[in-house]
Parts: sequence; structure tokens; C-alpha cells
Amino acid sequence: MKSRFAPSPTGYLHIGGARTALFAWAWAKKQQGQFVLRIEDTDRERSTQASVDAILDGMNWLGLTHDEGPFYQTQRFDRYQEIIEQLLSEDKAYYCECSKERLQVLRDELTEKGEKAKYDGCCRDKKLKSGVVRFKNPLTGFVTFKDAVKGQISIGNQELDDLIIARSDGTPTYNLTVVVDDHDMKIDTVIRGDDHINNTPRQINLYEALGWGLPKFAHLPMILGGDGARLSKRHGAVSVMAYRDEGFLPEALLNYLVRLGWSHGDQEVFSLSEIVELFDLKNINKAPASFNQEKLLWLNQEYIKTSSVDNLLENLAWHLDNQSVDTSTGPAIEAVVEHLQERSKTLVEMVDGLKMFYQDFNQFDEKLSAKQFKDSQSIKLLLTKLEALDDWMASNIKEQIKQVCKELDIGFGKIGQPFRLALSGNGNAGNIDIVAQLVGKDRTLARLQMALDYIAQHSH
Ligand code: GLU
Repeated sequence: MKSRFAPSPTGYLHIGGARTALFAWAWAKKQQGQFVLRIEDTDRERSTQASVDAILDGMNWLGLTHDEGPFYQTQRFDRYQEIIEQLLSEDKAYYCECSKERLQVLRDELTEKGEKAKYDGCCRDKKLKSGVVRFKNPLTGFVTFKDAVKGQISIGNQELDDLIIARSDGTPTYNLTVVVDDHDMKIDTVIRGDDHINNTPRQINLYEALGWGLPKFAHLPMILGGDGARLSKRHGAVSVMAYRDEGFLPEALLNYLVRLGWSHGDQEVFSLSEIVELFDLKNINKAPASFNQEKLLWLNQEYIKTSSVDNLLENLAWHLDNQSVDTSTGPAIEAVVEHLQERSKTLVEMVDGLKMFYQDFNQFDEKLSAKQFKDSQSIKLLLTKLEALDDWMASNIKEQIKQVCKELDIGFGKIGQPFRLALSGNGNAGNIDIVAQLVGKDRTLARLQMALDYIAQHSH
């Protein structure tokens, strides 16, 4: 069994493309089949190396590994040429020299009459020797096929015109290349977006003209933004790698994507192996799916909470590097990550929370310090007690905070809040004694001193 993902490189791997890739990948894996990656790069202008790399990077980051490929259509022009010539010689295709102007007039006339714009077959029997090559679509009968998602579909051949399979410069068009490739690569299930469903009857006619067996087809419903319009840039990030940049875990994004148009009861969280085990074309919804950023964020948080520290570290590496955080200057990163797991919705948030353990700062949040740095007595007392503390452990630190509260007869918040601000600079920190332990003794004392300096400067 073989399935494939056949993206056209247009700049990045789109969320919708990734969903198609995931479904095709899962369907192949479920049947211990092969997943083929084919780059449809015949549009030379858009298919730059950077565009191709963007797809490979996205697939790689998601972990959707291909078993065959990547194949590049630009390397298969000879094969397409061979098929085009075969169709010409068998009188199943013909050259057409209709000018752009003639075609435009034809189109305008038909549209005016309220009819579907299609080619009238003017050159069909002229036996011309140059021009574009058109496929002789059957003139009568129906194309009927059973789509795994949409059910039975039937289109009259009269609605289909003679499609162009080669441009006048000889380069093949999508409907030709896709048929030749899916046949040559022995693809038995074509899974793709339903924006291609109108192409399928034309492709089926080509398969038949070539005497080739048909693959199964499964056309996936569209993905919509929150407002019901097709998902696009104005709904937020649509490139897979933008989600990496925003701090999503690939497994969280995959879990989110599999639920876009597919369901298994009301289960929401699926491991990758569960996806493979449970995935079935039968459970793909017919209706379009809605993209919901909040749900994705919720899933990401769930995955961060339950992930192994090692997995988080692997995914954090890029972010740490991206934000130039050097973790050799502080506590063991494992302990910090474990501490932040509960508190981070994204890896970007995690890196933000992690900086205070590795980077010094020379200023506190202005608003918070004006509010919280008022009483130097309690901070001074805490500083003295912590200075004297030999065993720098969270439990001992906590004990000292309690002592301060007791001796000065103040509530925990009175010292806890300024301490948190002193340690973090922005008040954004978890359990204060654990945080202090991780920040380390020297840095903790220095930051408390900085808080005292602040109070001294601001009390007149
Ligand atoms: N290259 C086409 C696209 O990116 C997909 C073709 C197909 O899956 O048949 O839309």
C-alpha cells in the first residue's frame, strides 16, 4: 500500500498541506505501507530551492518521514514527454493553436450566456503540428467514482473540455504529471484537499486513455478560520514553521491537525502511535473543519505538562539558540525545565521564564517595583538570614522566609511578593523557595541587595 503527499513549493508548508500530509502518512503507516513525498515543482518561478527546503524542513520538524522520495517533477520531464507523445500518436491528444484572443472571446460568449466557460474543440480534428497539446476528453458518457470521503461522484463528460496537457513550450501541466506520477509511483490511495476534486474526473479520463488502473481517492474537506472563511494568513500563522517559532511542540500540532476533519469518538488527545492505530478514511468528516487557535494552545500546554524533560530539551534547543540563552551559567537546565513545565503554554513562554536563572538584569519592572519595594526592613532581614544559610535548599530557604514573617509579625505575601520580584525582575516566577534554590545563592543575595538599593534610591 502506498500513499503520497505532493506539495507544490510556494514558499512554506501550509497548515492545510501538513494536515493532508499527516492523513496520507497515517493511512500508509496504519497498513504498514509506504509514504511517498513528491515535490510538484514544475512551476519554475515559484519553486525556488528555498521553497522546497521550507517544505522539507516542515515535514522534518513534524516528523512525517517519507519512505520514498522526495521525487521532483522537474527531473521527470522526459517521462511526461514520452506519455504526451504516446497520447498524440494514439490520437488521444492533439495540438491546438487557438490564440489567447479567440479563447477569450469564446469564454466571454459562454459566460454571457450563463454557461460554463470551456474549450469548444476547434482544433480537435485539424491534425496540427504545433501549439499546446490538448487531451481528447470523451464527448459522451459519465465519469463516476467513489470518493472515500465524499461518496459517489458522477460528472457528465459534456461538462469537461479538452484539457491542456502540455503548454506551447512543451512543459507538462499538473493534470498530466499527477496521473503519470501516481501511476508510475504505484500510489494506491490519493489523499488530497477537496480543492482538487474537480480535477479528478479529468484525471480519471486520462488514466483510462492510458489503460492504467485507478487509485482510490479521498478528498479532504477544507479548513476554515474562525469566521467561516477559508483559512488564510489573516487568521494568524498558516505556515507550519511559524508554529515551531511560536513555541508549539510538533506532537501537539500533529494532534491538533489530526482532529481537523477526523474524529474518533470524542477523544481529543492522541499520541502518534494512537493516530496510526486508529486512523481511518471512514472517519473523515464531510463538513469543513474550523481552525481554533485556543484549542491548539490548550493542547500544546497539555503536551508540555506531560512531556518528558528530554523531549522538551530537544525542542527547546532551537529556541534557546534563537534567543541566545546560554544555560551553562546557571543551574542544571533539567531542573529548571521541570519547574517551568506546569507554567508554560508554549516553549517561547518557557524560554522567557527560564532567562531569570541564567541572565542577570539591572532593572526591575517599573510598576511592580514602585508598588512592592517599599519596606526595606523585611528584605534586609531576609538577606541577612539567607547570607548565613549554608545548605542552599528550597526547604531551608522557605524556613528563613517563615522566620522573617514571624519575627516581624507580617503575612507571607509581604515578603514573598517583593522576594519574587527581586528574583525575577518582572514578578513572573513560580514557587518562590524552589525558584530561589535554582537561581542560586550568589545571584539571590545580589538581587535582594539590588532591591534594597532600589528602595534606598526611591525613598526621600
Ligand atoms: N501539487 C498539488 C498541490 O499542492 C497537489 C496535487 C495532488 O495532491 O494531487 O495542490
